[in-house]
Amino acid sequence: MGQTLLQKVWDAHTVRTLPTGQTQLFVGLHLVHEVTSPQAFDALRSRGWPVRFPGRTFATVDHIVPTRDTRRPFQDVMAEEMMAALERNCREFGVPLWDLSHDHQGIVHVIGPELGLTQPGMTIACGDSHTSTHGAFGAVAFGIGTSQVRDVLASQCLAMERLKVRRIDVTGILEEGVYAKDVILAIIQRLGVKGGVGYAYEYGGPVVDRLTMDERMTICNMSIEGGARAGYVNPDETTFAYLRGRPYAPPADAFERATGFWRETASDADADYDDRTTIDASALEPMVTWGLHPGQSIGVTGRVPGPGDVPGDDRAAVTEALAFMGMAAGAPIAGTPIDVAFIGSCTNSRLSDLREAARIVAGRRIAPRVTGLVVPGSRAVRDAAEREGLHEVFRAAGFDWREAGCSMCLGMNPDKLVGRQTSASSSNRNFRGRQGSPTGRTLLMSPAMVAAAALAGEVIDVRHLVGAGRGTGEGATS
Ligand code: SF4
Repeated sequence: MGQTLLQKVWDAHTVRTLPTGQTQLFVGLHLVHEVTSPQAFDALRSRGWPVRFPGRTFATVDHIVPTRDTRRPFQDVMAEEMMAALERNCREFGVPLWDLSHDHQGIVHVIGPELGLTQPGMTIACGDSHTSTHGAFGAVAFGIGTSQVRDVLASQCLAMERLKVRRIDVTGILEEGVYAKDVILAIIQRLGVKGGVGYAYEYGGPVVDRLTMDERMTICNMSIEGGARAGYVNPDETTFAYLRGRPYAPPADAFERATGFWRETASDADADYDDRTTIDASALEPMVTWGLHPGQSIGVTGRVPGPGDVPGDDRAAVTEALAFMGMAAGAPIAGTPIDVAFIGSCTNSRLSDLREAARIVAGRRIAPRVTGLVVPGSRAVRDAAEREGLHEVFRAAGFDWREAGCSMCLGMNPDKLVGRQTSASSSNRNFRGRQGSPTGRTLLMSPAMVAAAALAGEVIDVRHLVGAGRGTGEGATS
């Protein structure tokens, strides 16, 4: 019986089995940002320990950075303190820092791949839940907490429970206007937000095989929202083509050798999985969340469920979500008014996402009542989008075009919902308060759906707006 990628990568990085039964796992790449690292660096400092492998550790700023006025000191005193602490820590411990003055700055899960730091067969850790994004390259990537950030800084190792592997095959063909974001929202809706507990999700099948790397990242990014500890796609020619020539990818003379190793890392054809499931993507339509977690979603032509539509255990959660979101059971989700349209986050802020949203809004204006925000995932994405003139398309449509960062994904900077505002958001979490207002409401959807909602001032079906020209660019989903 063959092995899965997870088993191969896990075994290759196992230092030893701990008395607890956990694995002491070597971490190939540690990505650091300003929110979960200060206490970890303090812990090293108080013990007189160095960072064990500074050459495997890279830092950037993303969560707290303002996206409009980035001059220092920041107006937000706490943000300025976090920024200054990261600068001090990186200087003292010899860790490279890509701050706001650097071309490599951006959301940690956007810059790792675009710099070629993220590679197949690696173990990757970062103090952020959505580290699963890097699994799109065939890496085993975990989000970790502050005490684990300390452990990795000090030892380059993590104590981890071994994971089971669920293979998820996505079959069929995606309809025009249906995207990778819709696939992962549908998977989470089907399997549940706790369905992946104890598992890594391996995504495959004809639809995933045809996805671009940007789209695979969108799917892997939200694995954590389905309860999975990690998510990955086996590396293939699409992966290698993406990585070739990137600053931290193997240089030309070593690249072929690397691809040989990366190919061997992929799951064997006869690999033994702990569970398998198949999703037929041909039946999917654009998805929209109506509730308080990413599993509470429906197709855009659907009606909001009521407590009577779900099993007994879920009824209280549905009742609570309907009350908070101001939704009526049985009402169509299309037509739900929005106040804010946010295109950004590590799920959907890459160049292909911006191209697709720009294509929807080009030559149109967003509804007068809507505040529109486009926040590129990195400086590199911003610069590339500006070279193509996408910023002018968004501005002409009435959107604000901002500097790179996490922004309204979690509202740790000045970009926040106000009061009971409802946001159409291309991000990944719709929990209470996630976008900066304790009473704010979030509807998750694809960037194209956000663009369409911005134009209409309410949730609409983007399939009515997408033209026949789609399918030629980086953002194409076949
Ligand atoms: S964009 Fe959101 S989910 Fe992604 S790293 Fe930033 S805060 Fe976390």
